Amino acid sequence: MNRRAFILGLAGLGGAAWAGGRWWPDDKWQNPCLSGLPETLANHPLIRAAWEDLNPEKVWDMHVHVAGTGDSGSGMAINPAMDSLSSPVLYVQKRVFMDAACVGERSKVDETYLARLLDLAGGFPPGVKLMLYAMEHFHAPGGKQDEFHTGVYVPNDYVRKLAQTWPQRFEWVASLHPYRDDAVQRLEQYVKEGAIAVKWLPSAMGIDPASPRCDAFYDALVRHDIPLIVHAGTELSVVGEGHEQDHNNPLRLRRTLENGVRVVAAHCASLGMDYDWDAGSKPDKLPSFELFARLMDEPHGANLYADLSAVPQLHRCHVFPALLENAGWHGRLLNGSDYPLPGIQPIYLLKELVRKDLLAAEHAEVLNELRAYNPLLFDFVLKRSIRWQGTGFPVGSFETRTFFQPATKAKSGGDKAGANKQKERAST
Ligand SMILES: [Zn+2]
Repeated sequence: MNRRAFILGLAGLGGAAWAGGRWWPDDKWQNPCLSGLPETLANHPLIRAAWEDLNPEKVWDMHVHVAGTGDSGSGMAINPAMDSLSSPVLYVQKRVFMDAACVGERSKVDETYLARLLDLAGGFPPGVKLMLYAMEHFHAPGGKQDEFHTGVYVPNDYVRKLAQTWPQRFEWVASLHPYRDDAVQRLEQYVKEGAIAVKWLPSAMGIDPASPRCDAFYDALVRHDIPLIVHAGTELSVVGEGHEQDHNNPLRLRRTLENGVRVVAAHCASLGMDYDWDAGSKPDKLPSFELFARLMDEPHGANLYADLSAVPQLHRCHVFPALLENAGWHGRLLNGSDYPLPGIQPIYLLKELVRKDLLAAEHAEVLNELRAYNPLLFDFVLKRSIRWQGTGFPVGSFETRTFFQPATKAKSGGDKAGANKQKERAST
């Protein structure tokens, strides 16, 4: 892809108003897609320090996307608009994501994506795992599957198979639409088959988390002690006709929390503005992050967690100081990468993090070298290196296995124990 198309794509992603020198990329526009890691880099004190105090067995990257065109028979699909020049933003977006994942355009897209992901995972110590996301279709309000409005489809069956084939590296996060007649039944089946969480992207799937139609699904999540990971704040990656941005409003998760579900708000709702529905019928818009913060501090917020995926991006990183200053939230922040996004070099602008006093300039240099080889490891070491007035994210934010697979559950498969604990948490 040429540079002009790439820049247009970034503009389409909404992230890079790049024209001024301040937001010019640190290094390259495109992903160099190198592999392995030179000795000097692998043994660099910054990278070694990233593993201090961490047990790799507990380090799970809790936000990793699987993608492809379905050319391997995987069942994955992308909306035809992404290959049509009549939808230029979607067209270029797809190519930007493919560049981030080091996938060429012609053939073997599914296989190449997976091979690169396994290669990058191999750059981590044994024990470290990636939580891979399925992505359910858009559904109409009546609960019917709607392919026309579906941006990206990644079948549960495919992701389950990946987790079963590489259990030492992958876990499966199911995606399931709550309006389906068989939603509860399917959830139960997926839990038996090893799904450890459910992921929703409300605008792209046609889900209103505040709808009573979700209640039966919420009850089932609580019964099985399965966390729900929900995109929160403005969505830019999977957009299309009929997608309601307000479905991603953090306030819509209040009902989910009141039902006792353990919720993970993706990206800490760090992007965009949403209506403050608490202010009455004609509300103003406030930063989504502010609404998320309100929810975090409410009594039911004890069940609200948030992930750090994508937060280092130049249009989101302004929330780092608030996240790091608020010690009361630290036990509820979980690390994930949002792979393949860390492979989009211009939106991870290290010099902006340095300018904001969040990253030491000498660390930025090492990280810049690292991302050319392994964007997944880059994202991890970057999060470990971020500091605000001397404070970094706690060890617990990186040992996310403890949240997704509590010891009680791992030993006994104890759904009931988990559900009781969850109800207790919800009623505090
Ligand atoms: Zn994501």
